[in-house]
Amino acid sequence: MRRSSPLKQLVRLGLMATTSLAIALLIIIFSLGPAFIAQRLNPVSQQALPSISSDVQALHDSLTIIDLHADSLLWGRDLSQQSEYGHVDVPRLLQGNIALQIFTVVTQVPTPLLLEGNPADSDSIIQLALLQRWPISTWLSLAERALYQAKQLQRLEQKSPDRFQVIENQQDLNAYLASKAAGQPVTAGLLGLEGAQALEGHLDTVNRLYDAGFRMIGLSHFFDNEVAGSAHGLGQAGLTPLGQNVIQRMAELNMLVDLAHASPQTIDDVLQITERPVLVSHTGVQGTCAGVRNLSDRQLQQIASTGGVIGIGFWRTAVCGDDVGAIVRAIRYVVEQVGIDHVALGSDFDGAVRVPFDVANMNQLTQGLQENGFTAADIRKIMGLNILNLLQQFLPAEP
Ligand SMILES: [Zn+2]
Repeated sequence: MRRSSPLKQLVRLGLMATTSLAIALLIIIFSLGPAFIAQRLNPVSQQALPSISSDVQALHDSLTIIDLHADSLLWGRDLSQQSEYGHVDVPRLLQGNIALQIFTVVTQVPTPLLLEGNPADSDSIIQLALLQRWPISTWLSLAERALYQAKQLQRLEQKSPDRFQVIENQQDLNAYLASKAAGQPVTAGLLGLEGAQALEGHLDTVNRLYDAGFRMIGLSHFFDNEVAGSAHGLGQAGLTPLGQNVIQRMAELNMLVDLAHASPQTIDDVLQITERPVLVSHTGVQGTCAGVRNLSDRQLQQIASTGGVIGIGFWRTAVCGDDVGAIVRAIRYVVEQVGIDHVALGSDFDGAVRVPFDVANMNQLTQGLQENGFTAADIRKIMGLNILNLLQQFLPAEP
């Protein structure tokens, strides 16, 4: 038998070392990658928060709090356990006395991500899907990505049935609120979609999403899609003919329309045809913070006139600040424009944004509102009752 030359042995050793290094790196990337990314993209700006007075805490504990927007399903965290990073999980929802968190599902994000003029042909979610080992079906299908994340929320309920419930209709909601009022330490979630690109151009996908538990659809996200134009898209067009059918189908199914990220033309087009209240799940207002997707006074009035509700975001480009005061200023502005019944919380927790506090510290906002002169009755409405009233009328009545 011929012995291989020292050079060949060296090459073979080198190859083996490189391969093991690559495998080790892959293991590190796949195990730490999603956590690393989620941690870096979802920070909290204020580490030392003001202490909460006992009066404010008592008021906070008596509120029914609803937040309209959190992208927490995207990052692969086990939401039944408390994390050191990110903004939302079941233990922190309970600590923050949140009655209902709307979990919104993201399916495609352009790369690079621009505030204006994003084309529709790039995608960074595929990297998260690969890192988190989502099923192969999600690699190419946006509908599958939405359905997969919906399944994660159902799994969360199965994992913590005593502490977390998924709400799909008025019957669920009222039974849940009764058990909560009876003293059970429990919180809840409802599914929303961020961007109708997940319909993949098919009206019938609305029904598949409904069957998976989705009750709210944001028509566009960061780019124009087959249904509607985006404030960050290339065309700034409005609702398409498919979009009109989608609005109609959603009304038949008692699903809620979310106009966050929509182009001005889309907002106008939807308001022309809808007979149901519309939501804006997470936004800022031009009156306190100029921005491509922040709502003008006219849009606030139009949305309020449908009986709709505007969720104020907690991050910098929504409210031009990263403190509680900036959020309260935007809330105050909406109240001055359209009254106390049309404003709500739309944090965008875990939405790749920096926010002043995580969901466990939502009492900071109760205190900020009180210090700004809002009455307890006002605070109840802002923190959740405005949305609760809407859900109790416009969700499907029963399964
Ligand atoms: Zn968003």
